[in-house]
Amino acid sequence: MTKTIVHLLSGGLDSVVMLHDLHAQGHRIYCVSFNYGQKHGARERDCAERHCARLGVKYETVRLPQLRGSSLTDGGAGVVVPNRNAIMLSLAVNVAVAAKADTITYACNADDNEHFPDCRPEFVSAMNAAVQAAGYRIEICAPYALLTKAIIAEMGRELGVDLSDTWSCYAGGERPCETCPACIKRKEALQ
Ligand SMILES: [Zn+2]
Repeated sequence: MTKTIVHLLSGGLDSVVMLHDLHAQGHRIYCVSFNYGQKHGARERDCAERHCARLGVKYETVRLPQLRGSSLTDGGAGVVVPNRNAIMLSLAVNVAVAAKADTITYACNADDNEHFPDCRPEFVSAMNAAVQAAGYRIEICAPYALLTKAIIAEMGRELGVDLSDTWSCYAGGERPCETCPACIKRKEALQ
């Protein structure tokens, strides 16, 4: 069945592969990026915009106030933005109602699950319960929640996605720093 989807597209590897995957399935797609003051945001959004232009998919950036970061306590894997996915998904419900979409997709993966509870299937279920309780017929889906980044990269290659035109690095430089957690995970996934 063809769906009308609001897809959260950061411009990183996972969300870009998912965009191409959804597009190949014939769904109507409306992509949204959020600018919440992330250092690497402009680079990511440039990638996002190029992929949407190639596919002829609508794309919008929603500007948010600067969101605060906090250090991860378990394992020191970097900085997190507290409650980020709940914030973005709640805003996506607003966009989806206006766009008459029935589905919202976001590209959390199995590698994220380890550190981020808001990437786990329990969180997706709870968000869906809240959206339904609020009276909206919109389903939040995280189809890659149980897939590793390496598998997602492989799917991207099979779909013919230009994975070099995706951005993962958190550091905000001209080129990927190769040392931040996002760069390391990306490198492992692309091996
Ligand atoms: Zn980096």
